[in-house]
Amino acid sequence: MKVCLQPVGSVRSDVIGYLRDKLGKIFGECEIFEEIELPKYAYNPKRNQYNSSLILMRLPTHCSVTLGITEADLYAYTFNFIFGEAELKGKRAIISLARLDPEFYGHEKNDELLKVRALKEAMHEIGHVLGLVHCGNRRCVMCFSNTIFDTDYKDWKYCERCLEFLRSKGLEINLEIK
Ligand code: ZN
Ligand code: ZN
Repeated sequence: MKVCLQPVGSVRSDVIGYLRDKLGKIFGECEIFEEIELPKYAYNPKRNQYNSSLILMRLPTHCSVTLGITEADLYAYTFNFIFGEAELKGKRAIISLARLDPEFYGHEKNDELLKVRALKEAMHEIGHVLGLVHCGNRRCVMCFSNTIFDTDYKDWKYCERCLEFLRSKGLEINLEIK
């Protein structure tokens, strides 16, 4: 299966490159699209955040799974912020790096931590696109992240049950990567 990465606004190339490498190995193929602009109408000046759903609608649909990536801080529905959003059993999802960066919380710069967190949120949102709902296993990547502590607690992998669901749909997924 092919996963397409769509940078929305300028996005750190080291993080995009890391995701392409990992997602390519996990799902089979991964391509990076040309950057598109952050849509101005999605910006909410009162919140200094972008409406995630409005950006999601702008993502291309010609790839079976497209993951938007932005550095902008996102919100949706009644949530103060979100790490990401997806079309359940659809084609598109988006993640934000804003609150995955340790520096956002006043912690020291840690690029490795940022990359692993980005991989977890990417796997989570791609899981929704592939039809997975939230999982009660707190170590499973499909467990809902309310805070960054939840993200750090869970693994970047699907648990056996979630993986079995995906494989039952004929998807080849390789979690035995380094
Ligand atoms: Zn979710
Ligand atoms: Zn699970």
